[in-house]
Amino acid sequence: MTSTLALLGGRPEVTAVGPHFEWPPIDDTTRAKVAAQLDAAVSIPGRSGIVADLEDGLQEYFGVRHAVTTSSGTAALHATYWAARIRPGDEVIVPAWTFHATASPLFHLRAVPVLCETRPDGNIDPNRVEELITPRTRAIMVTHLWGKPADMTDLVAVANAHDLVVLEDGSHAHGAGIAGQKVGTFGLASAFSLNGPKPLSGGEGGFVLTDDDDTYHRVITLAHYNKRARTEIPEGHPLARYAVTGAGLKLRIHPLAAAIAYDQLARLDGYLAGRAEIARYLTGQLARIPGLEVTEMPQGVVPSWYGLTLTYKPGELGGLPIEKFHQALVAEGATEFDRPGSTCPMNQLPLYQHPTMLFPGHPHSHRRYEPGDFPVAEHAHAHMIKLPVWHREQDLELAERYARAAMKISEHHKELL
Ligand SMILES: *Cc1c(COP(=O)(O)O)cnc(C)c1O
Repeated sequence: MTSTLALLGGRPEVTAVGPHFEWPPIDDTTRAKVAAQLDAAVSIPGRSGIVADLEDGLQEYFGVRHAVTTSSGTAALHATYWAARIRPGDEVIVPAWTFHATASPLFHLRAVPVLCETRPDGNIDPNRVEELITPRTRAIMVTHLWGKPADMTDLVAVANAHDLVVLEDGSHAHGAGIAGQKVGTFGLASAFSLNGPKPLSGGEGGFVLTDDDDTYHRVITLAHYNKRARTEIPEGHPLARYAVTGAGLKLRIHPLAAAIAYDQLARLDGYLAGRAEIARYLTGQLARIPGLEVTEMPQGVVPSWYGLTLTYKPGELGGLPIEKFHQALVAEGATEFDRPGSTCPMNQLPLYQHPTMLFPGHPHSHRRYEPGDFPVAEHAHAHMIKLPVWHREQDLELAERYARAAMKISEHHKELL
């Protein structure tokens, strides 16, 4: 007799042809706007046209005084650190687990990323920050991993107690918030990616948010130059004399990417509301499945649902390895169930273990990271299964089948042992 499990020859639970999740959602309105942009301008050196529209829109959406677009989230992070006056030898406390670009620009500033242990949900653990603070510590950078806001109340309190700057990487969490306050507005400045799968996407791109004029002028100086610098940095400002060159980089967004992002921005809250609906359904279903634990969302925390994350509990399934469980999910056709890859604890990355190969003489040398240094983050990463969250009502059926696939494997796990 064959098994009911697809991995063992049974019928797959999900039969719809994939891919089952595509982002950003592009429709005829998006296409028309991009086509119109092709005729309007494909290079915008100043703060005008679609770039100004997008920045104005972001300022309004986040309720901040300044939004500056960039070519990528990585560029936005680079500009944010430089604008926050992170200097050579300075230390910045960053979550041990995040996409590496949250911290990698620090190497280019000859500053030191100091990795901090996370909570099981992957967000930086405020209780582990204080022990890392030295006289060289300047800032704390916070990622809201998979779109779940980090504990900003405690993090801001620690930062204030030690006179540290708070910075945020909101790349997973556009529109997410805590008690009505949006992610990206808790510190001096924040950086966001507009890359492919991010909740707000232009395909490529990024932006920096700040309420602080000086930080804004410094972001302009690092990421832009000439036209923007000449018009946006006031005469008499110490940076005004550098306007022609900026800091020598050029990190501006492509107008077609800005057009996509601007189109998406108007729909972001709709996407998030739709995701919340499907996430509520999925959470209810998946929470009942032995072997899986759904990441908790405390009261008042509104995630972007960049990912719905599950902790796999092999002990509840006779020790079935996560690789096998995941393989069985994919065999069921539930191909969007994913194990995080490159977004891993950074002590596992050569750049963080041995940066001096790439950055000779880098002051990082007194911090060497090895696998095993961050047991909470590493355990959580190794046991995580995540799912993108759909936003359309018609995707509920797909969500239903995904949940059924997971339930089926859990129920029949003995056949896989
Ligand atoms: C995607 C991402 C980045 C980098 O953004 P790019 O636009 O790809 O350069 C940085 N941090 C986090 C958390 C990200 O997810």
